[in-house]
Amino acid sequence: DELRKLLDSRIRDVPDWPKPGVVFKDISPLLADPVAFAALVDALAERCAGRVDKVVGIEARGFILAAPVALRARAGFVPVRKAGKLPCATYAQSYELEYGSATLEVHQDAFAAGDRVLVIDDVLATGGTVEATIDLIRRAGAEVVGVEVLLELGFLDGRARLAPVLPDGALESF
Ligand code: 5GP
Repeated sequence: DELRKLLDSRIRDVPDWPKPGVVFKDISPLLADPVAFAALVDALAERCAGRVDKVVGIEARGFILAAPVALRARAGFVPVRKAGKLPCATYAQSYELEYGSATLEVHQDAFAAGDRVLVIDDVLATGGTVEATIDLIRRAGAEVVGVEVLLELGFLDGRARLAPVLPDGALESF
């Protein structure tokens, strides 16, 4: 539809970044366009308004999208961060990358018991990042009711990886 076309036109392919053979989807032009950025945030907020207590943003580009959506949806914002960045007691979850591993953390007291949570990130690739985030939210006592990504790299099958850990229809992209 119109919105998808607008968003697609503001995402650029960067060949061989961060390493040879990878085509990186750069959302900088979208964020720099006030019309596209507002349309994206409005659409995300509309989908979740009244349905969620907290919006989780995944460091770093997820923060940029999740914070304005949380404001518009009258929900709280919770950051999921890379290891060592959060100052208070955390839960930590490690996951495998193509080379090596990464760890994400959330504050143990980030949620009230039973909070309904929407997770937002820019790109779903293998799904490892979102899977670790879902795990953290559950360990912190909250419920994941949705996952919104701007872009899904279909050939990496993140959707299939997340299917066993998400309710039907919980994963949406544009
Ligand atoms: P995954 O864990 O699903 O393999 O990778 C997703 C994470 O890596 C997301 O946090 C996302 O920001 C980042 N990522 C992977 N590939 C891309 C890409 O092509 N473009 C952007 N903007 N982020 C990417």
